[in-house]
Amino acid sequence: MASDDDKMYISYNNVHQLCQESADKIKQFKPDLIIAIGGGGFIPARMLRSFLKEPGQPNIRIMAIILSLYEEIEHAGGIEKPGTQVIRTQWIDYHQSKIDLVDKNILIIDEVDDTRTTLHYAVSELKKDVELHAKEKGKDPKNTKFGIFVLHDKQKVKKADLPKDIMDNNYFAARTVPDCWIAYPWESTNIVYHQKKAEEQGNDVFLDLEDK
Ligand code: 5GP
Repeated sequence: MASDDDKMYISYNNVHQLCQESADKIKQFKPDLIIAIGGGGFIPARMLRSFLKEPGQPNIRIMAIILSLYEEIEHAGGIEKPGTQVIRTQWIDYHQSKIDLVDKNILIIDEVDDTRTTLHYAVSELKKDVELHAKEKGKDPKNTKFGIFVLHDKQKVKKADLPKDIMDNNYFAARTVPDCWIAYPWESTNIVYHQKKAEEQGNDVFLDLEDK
């Protein structure tokens, strides 16, 4: 477990402004739907939606999926190696929500891209859904586009890849950071201390609020 001084403390205002700063670039992707990966993607998704709102247009709908990452030891050929398994705790109920991903631009949001395992899982499973639903409708699954927004992308060797078209065109990380533990405000049980640490580390407001 990282000590307090090794952690990067991020304030709510910082998260809000990272969303604000990223919105203009993300607008070029023209998202039709947001899929927030819970729990960390929920608050950034809601904040970003306000900055993506266009006058006269409805708010972009946010759907939630919940994924948990379990580290487990695989015994492959007698050699123990750490493995990663993603558990689907909640997925999209296409029937009840009447959500259709086909022909849409879908923005997936999580708070952090660490080993990339979770994002890889989300993209590949959502792509499978799109392929199935597009086939049923006689449509081309390639007309569904995926984009990704994360607050922080950690600079490290990733355990999984994302499709090249996403990485080249529609991967939005507000900040690229060294591989350290990031403490987000919604996890804090002492928000006064958390806020103080974020301010000390320069991870509080950074945009001039008079600007907009
Ligand atoms: P992955 O390794 O699949 O990219 O990340 C899996 C999940 O681990 C993330 O969605 C996030 O919930 C959690 N995680 C990874 N690194 C950090 C971190 O530095 N801080 C926090 N708070 N969560 C993290």
